[in-house]
Amino acid sequence: MFRKFALIVTVAGLAAVPARAQTPAIPSLDDWDVHDLERPQPPLVTPGEMVLIPPPSDAIVLFDGTNLDEWIHRTEEPASWIIRDGYMEVRPSSGAILTKRSFGDVQLHVEWATPNSGEGQDSGNSGVYLMNTYEVQVLNSHENVTYPDGQAASLYGQYPPLVNASRPAEQWQSYDIIFRRPHFDEAGNLTQPARVTVLHNGVLVQDNVILTGPTGHRSRPPYRAHADALPIQLQDHNEPTRYRNIWVREL
Ligand code: MG
Repeated sequence: MFRKFALIVTVAGLAAVPARAQTPAIPSLDDWDVHDLERPQPPLVTPGEMVLIPPPSDAIVLFDGTNLDEWIHRTEEPASWIIRDGYMEVRPSSGAILTKRSFGDVQLHVEWATPNSGEGQDSGNSGVYLMNTYEVQVLNSHENVTYPDGQAASLYGQYPPLVNASRPAEQWQSYDIIFRRPHFDEAGNLTQPARVTVLHNGVLVQDNVILTGPTGHRSRPPYRAHADALPIQLQDHNEPTRYRNIWVREL
């Protein structure tokens, strides 16, 4: 009886050790350097007509076109981006804006339009940062070529979109993002990487991809432990990109 018990304890103990020590499955992107220009350009897909998707009953409306009450600058000063005709516009060099609320797992709807100016990374560059850390790139990617892991709907520096479903600059476009946050143990070790699904103008462009870590520029930094909920950030990249109809459902 004692031996049987000991055996069970031992087996359970052995089973537990690898589970604790196991490195979470983070895909290797080593085939492609960060911002690799040799990476194939995603095929073009022309999206259907823009359809306004109003917030469902359980959504938190983050921007209804009238005010920036849900937003703040990093300095904690009130958000100073411009409001005009039902949209907000980046006030260049004013800084990113962040939600006052914090979120973990979410379904997020965002509509955006870039100016028709500049080229490459300087054509309407902005971005939606989940947890203030993981960027879904916003950029004019209609007849504007850049490195594939930095075009519109890329997970910047990591994953190009499956297809390029961009509309021309100055037209409204939509993102529907499903984000599952990373998990960390009490020692700060990653136990579950973040996962992201994105629909761009209703077209699937990121299919439950596993993030390699936070967004970096010219780098793929490793995960660093953070809170279970953090603000959503909209990036100020010095260009007057516009946003409207932003709502979120907590999952
Ligand atoms: Mg950006």
